[in-house]
Amino acid sequence: MTIAVVGSTNIDLAIRVPHICAKNETVIGTGSYEIFGGGKGANQAASVAAAGAKANFISKVGDDAFGEQSMKGLIDGGVDCSYVIRDANSSTGLAAILVDDNGDNAIAVAPGANGQLTTQDITAAEAAIADASHLIVQLEVPLDTVRHAIKIAAKHGTSVIFNPAPAPAPGEDFGPVTYFTPNEVEAASLSGIAADNERSLDAITDTFFDRGVENVIITLGARGCFVRSRDERLFIDPYKVDAVDTTGAGDTFNGFFGAALSRGEQLGKAAKYACAAAALAVTRPGARTNLPTHDEVIEFMG
Ligand code: ATP
Repeated sequence: MTIAVVGSTNIDLAIRVPHICAKNETVIGTGSYEIFGGGKGANQAASVAAAGAKANFISKVGDDAFGEQSMKGLIDGGVDCSYVIRDANSSTGLAAILVDDNGDNAIAVAPGANGQLTTQDITAAEAAIADASHLIVQLEVPLDTVRHAIKIAAKHGTSVIFNPAPAPAPGEDFGPVTYFTPNEVEAASLSGIAADNERSLDAITDTFFDRGVENVIITLGARGCFVRSRDERLFIDPYKVDAVDTTGAGDTFNGFFGAALSRGEQLGKAAKYACAAAALAVTRPGARTNLPTHDEVIEFMG
């Protein structure tokens, strides 16, 4: 089955610097710069494809070289980009990243075309959402656009995986969500309850159930994840690895999780598979260049 992914496409442009520059300061980098494909939507679509499922990506980029480069990377990775719009009036989303010798960073994002993905664009892609078993959405495109995509999915019986990242304002309503996948910071901010112990995770998930979410999966970084539905409650133990770069761990998790669900896996098994994929990804640098294949994940799970 196909998974439709609605979300952002960015180019990440990274410069390593001796220190993060102060106001009005120019700092000379320690070498050249690096350019990576990024954006939560694009990363999650690439993860779906890496997991061996069909990914149909709905996004907007500028009619520029960065847009071209983003699309090429995704298509090479097996993502169907026929619903990606090239907008001559916007530029492709760009994240300018400074990383210093301590690994601290400063990031400025120009959302560009991501901010121009409209409800009309989603309506024009209705067939892709209707044909999919699952829709994956995040929040680097306008909230109204995300709500509209969720509404269309509900109309066609397509299950919704909603990764509420970056965290929206508390109290926002999203519509009917089948699988809600915040990390612990987003879960705390959305519920107003600190995620500092096991009981608080139950209290947090209760607030999401009250808002109509069917299943909650809270990712806990190196501590694995917490899964709760109306009749299931479990912790998925982390896979112990030497992490070298945790950027995009959540994106890998969501893409592989969706792929497993689309193959008919049960909730707990799908979450375990996603934890294994994300653990493997954090052992390699990059947010997209680090994606494991389905076979690698199965072998890693033993
Ligand atoms: P990001 O914002 O960097 O994309 P996130 O904060 O959304 O990540 P996390 O909760 O940090 O997501 O991680 C997602 C999943 O990745 C975790 O549930 C876990 O399975 C796996 N993971 C992350 N970090 C580690 C680690 N150090 N060791 C093993 N697994 C990890």
